[in-house]
Amino acid sequence: MLNEIFYQKCLGCGLRSDNNSPVCIDCMQDIEKHPYACESCGYPSSLQVKICGKCSSAIFRDRIFIPYKYQGPIKKLIKEIKFLYRASGRSILHELIDTNTLIGYDVITDVPSHFTRKIRRLKHPATDIAKSIASSTGARYDVLLARVKKTEYQYKLKRRQRAFNVKGAFTIKTDVTGLKILLVDDIITTGSTIEECSRTLKRSGASIVDVFALTGGSTK
Ligand SMILES: [Zn+2]
Ligand SMILES: [Zn+2]
Repeated sequence: MLNEIFYQKCLGCGLRSDNNSPVCIDCMQDIEKHPYACESCGYPSSLQVKICGKCSSAIFRDRIFIPYKYQGPIKKLIKEIKFLYRASGRSILHELIDTNTLIGYDVITDVPSHFTRKIRRLKHPATDIAKSIASSTGARYDVLLARVKKTEYQYKLKRRQRAFNVKGAFTIKTDVTGLKILLVDDIITTGSTIEECSRTLKRSGASIVDVFALTGGSTK
């Protein structure tokens, strides 16, 4: 009876996960990290580089941390996080995120979910990740940004339309003057949403806006 209740299928392979986690031990090893990060801005790279193509386009954000490649079990994990969070989502996030490099922020905040999407979704993965980092590092979690513009889903748009789509989409909810902020999202594709959020925070007086996303970046 108890076994039935706690029976958990691994998100990676579909077999029973016996480590009381949504991803079994074998599949945990299939979750691949980016081998390098740009020495200047932190953007993931397949080679060791001092500057990268993202350095010049990141005008408002400071350092970025994207530990995992978007492939394998991590893809499913992002999709399922809203459901599994009730049971063991918190533990897997704690396990996946190395918070040693994420110390010293005044506030951990997340990219706001689209308000129409929020109704359909139980959980916004970025919020869970931000709260997980806050609890591990002892920093404060706070909602600093709100969406003011109804934007089209970014994935439906061509690369050049994406920055325009999110332009002016966010507003500040509280005073951020002088704050050192870690802005969190679950996945980063082109980075235009992150850049617009960072612009809003910096223009409102934030001193540092670093960015953390669980996965994203180049898949090469
Ligand atoms: Zn598995
Ligand atoms: Zn760079």
